Amino acid sequence: MSAVATVDLWVDEWAREANCAGQDPEALFVRGKAQHDAKTVCKTCPVLAQCLAEALDSRTEFGVWGGMTERERRALLRKRPDITSWKSALRAGMASQAR
Ligand code: SF4
Repeated sequence: MSAVATVDLWVDEWAREANCAGQDPEALFVRGKAQHDAKTVCKTCPVLAQCLAEALDSRTEFGVWGGMTERERRALLRKRPDITSWKSALRAGMASQAR
């Protein structure tokens, strides 16, 4: 039997590591097409997965979270109703990528 080591890179206290920390919070709560410009700050965010998981698990309706617009998040939730904990799913995904 061989053991597979996993690396847990999940950060629970993620907000202070966010790319948008210190930015005007309203910048991420724009409407419509402006959300696509607003989410560029997320592309290099080190806590994108944590932010997205929180928004999906809490069904946050408004604003850009985790690099996704509200419309994109709704579509993802419709596409994957089987996922009951996005935190668990995304955390597992990070661990498997780190191997
Ligand atoms: S993913 Fe985007 S909205 Fe979420 S913490 Fe990072 S920069 Fe902010």
